[in-house]
Amino acid sequence: MLNALSVDVEDWFQVGAFETVIDRNSWDSRECRVERNTDLVLELFDDADVKATFFTLGWVAERYPALIRRIVENGHEIASHGYGHDRVFTFTPEQFAADLIRSRALIEDAAGVAVTGYRAPSFSIDQRTPWAHEILAEQGYAYSSSVAPIKHDHYGWAEAPRFAFRPVAGSDFLEIPVTTAELGPKRLAAGGGGFFRLLPYAFSRWAIHQVNERDRRPAVIYFHPWEIDPEQPRVANAPLKSKIRHYTKLDVMAAKLRRLPQDFQWERLDSVVAREKARLAA
Ligand SMILES: [Zn+2]
Repeated sequence: MLNALSVDVEDWFQVGAFETVIDRNSWDSRECRVERNTDLVLELFDDADVKATFFTLGWVAERYPALIRRIVENGHEIASHGYGHDRVFTFTPEQFAADLIRSRALIEDAAGVAVTGYRAPSFSIDQRTPWAHEILAEQGYAYSSSVAPIKHDHYGWAEAPRFAFRPVAGSDFLEIPVTTAELGPKRLAAGGGGFFRLLPYAFSRWAIHQVNERDRRPAVIYFHPWEIDPEQPRVANAPLKSKIRHYTKLDVMAAKLRRLPQDFQWERLDSVVAREKARLAA
């Protein structure tokens, strides 16, 4: 079973959890660590012979085009994470369409290859945005991995399917949700974030096994470059819960990531999507 590994390329000051305390206008004066951290991720993947998908902000591609080229030269898929990490449900449909066009142009200019995949910031495609998938399909995207089919305090669309589905009638455009596991009647967000970094690695191994062995489906796992950076600047005035979630176990994250290729096989999301499309068409 080939699973999909993905990286959401954004910096420590762009995460949703800090948006109430970090003004967007201050981004350019912050210490940028995304290039250095993403290069460390590239090295880690290279050592383990893993290919993955990098959902990148247009904001990052605009400032670090050489990094985008290195991602592509290393054999990974480059895809879009929107321009400035605005959640989809904060946009009108017109604003969302414009954000997609702007970010894709910046990423493609830097990458020199076509972008066909999209991940919404903070998994923000949900019941409030019935138009989002249609706009993505209209713009020629092949897939989105923007739905977290769970209830969570910051995100989630609990009623959504757990595995790949076609959200647009008459189109083979695919939504491939981030991985969840089931514990009795409870659905757990097992695709990344706190589940992967904060809990022991054994929980993630159990969840991916469940998806592969019981459900017979690929897992879709994600993390961020700042999660392997214990030296990042601290945001002193952030809410306590956000600080605990953001700063715990940054020092063991790289070692944990190295275990994934020892236990499972990983691929770019576009390859996994092609396989899922063939399965749904059969
Ligand atoms: Zn993000």
